[in-house]
Amino acid sequence: MKNRVFKLWLFGSLMLATAVQLMPAKPDKLLLKNVTLIDGTGAPAKNNMDILLQGDRIVSITPTGRIKPAGARVIDLQGKTIMPALICAHAHLGVLKGTSIEASNYTRDNLINQLKRYERYGVGTVLCMGTDRSLIFHGFRDSSRAGLLAGARLYSAGHGFSTPGGPPGGSWTDELYRPANAGQVAAEMDSLALLRPDVVKMWVDDFGGHSAKMKPEIYQAIIREAHKHGLRVAAHLFYLEDARKLVDAGLDIIAHSIRDQEIDEALLKKMNEKGVIYIPTLTRDEFTYVYADNPSWMGDAFFKAALEPGVFEMISSKAYQDKIRNAPDYQKNKRAVQIALINLKKISDAGILVALGTDSGADPVRAQGFSEHRELELMVNAGLTPLQVIEAATRNAAIALKINQQRGTLEPGKQADFMVLAKNPEREIKNTRTIETVWKNGVEVR
Ligand SMILES: [Zn+2]
Repeated sequence: MKNRVFKLWLFGSLMLATAVQLMPAKPDKLLLKNVTLIDGTGAPAKNNMDILLQGDRIVSITPTGRIKPAGARVIDLQGKTIMPALICAHAHLGVLKGTSIEASNYTRDNLINQLKRYERYGVGTVLCMGTDRSLIFHGFRDSSRAGLLAGARLYSAGHGFSTPGGPPGGSWTDELYRPANAGQVAAEMDSLALLRPDVVKMWVDDFGGHSAKMKPEIYQAIIREAHKHGLRVAAHLFYLEDARKLVDAGLDIIAHSIRDQEIDEALLKKMNEKGVIYIPTLTRDEFTYVYADNPSWMGDAFFKAALEPGVFEMISSKAYQDKIRNAPDYQKNKRAVQIALINLKKISDAGILVALGTDSGADPVRAQGFSEHRELELMVNAGLTPLQVIEAATRNAAIALKINQQRGTLEPGKQADFMVLAKNPEREIKNTRTIETVWKNGVEVR
């Protein structure tokens, strides 16, 4: 009898415990008090603000002291600045390890390590531009973008389109599509579309005259077929003339700077009319020569911590620096950056949407995490204001990825992905490097 009572008691307790577990707990409220806020919309910083979070969302943003939410945990962040986590709309993930770029480097562990590195640097979302491999399309990509995996959220252009035998080459590009004629594109696009890529990437460049450029009838077919699937197309390009032809063909995103000539009014007007998005990747071009010039930041811990093992030794060696200085393209690469800076200013002034991108991770010398902060600095050097540059790296990049309903700016209802800085970058863009903590989904992750 006693035993039966015990069993009933045990049964009842278990039922109650299960019921409690099934009841969705209301997420805790958290009030971040007294912050300076840069919200990513381009608006000036606001001092003395309170940001109320509940779960992964921002509930309200109000002047300090105006609301006193009952039961909220409070963190006083007086003197600190909060800005949205950066979004890099042109990066490469997983293929780099140490000083090598190989297909065999592309493992789940390496991807997670790199996503965590981006996150440590305040980059909360990255778009891998066309060099992803099949591995991520069986759950990894979807879990990452949902915020269920560690590190930055991964968005993907899937497998990009290039030319038969053309760059980029090497084992890590063996999953690219390389149509020999326009007739092959439709079937290839059908298979890519099944992966639900965020954009389609293609390479339209002769790489300094070293290789054959993709023919217009092929990139026209890529754009046409992508648009049939509701997908947008981003192009690697170099030349103004190609940009002109690509924009005429319906290109959606220019994924590198136009770097051979200054852009003209006619193309600016057309890009504006068609809503073309521009991703300058200035660091990509600077990294082709800059280490030979011993830049002031070469010894910074902020830079060195972003490098893969062995890369600092490589780039600081006399052999490497001599090779760069004596390369036939050394002067051309420097000139390309100067033209890219001029074009960025013209494009920004014309009102064309500029989004942060770096091409980091596609070469050992393009350090993931550091590149994004250096890119912001170069964009300021081009003549943009720090607030414009921050907007490009947050709101605009979110628009480029079509995730601006969820994040990119810090506003009520948006996901709480942001960083806490020791210093305000509103007048000195390098202050984005004073990262104290990084938050994702309303949780401190660094
Ligand atoms: Zn790239």
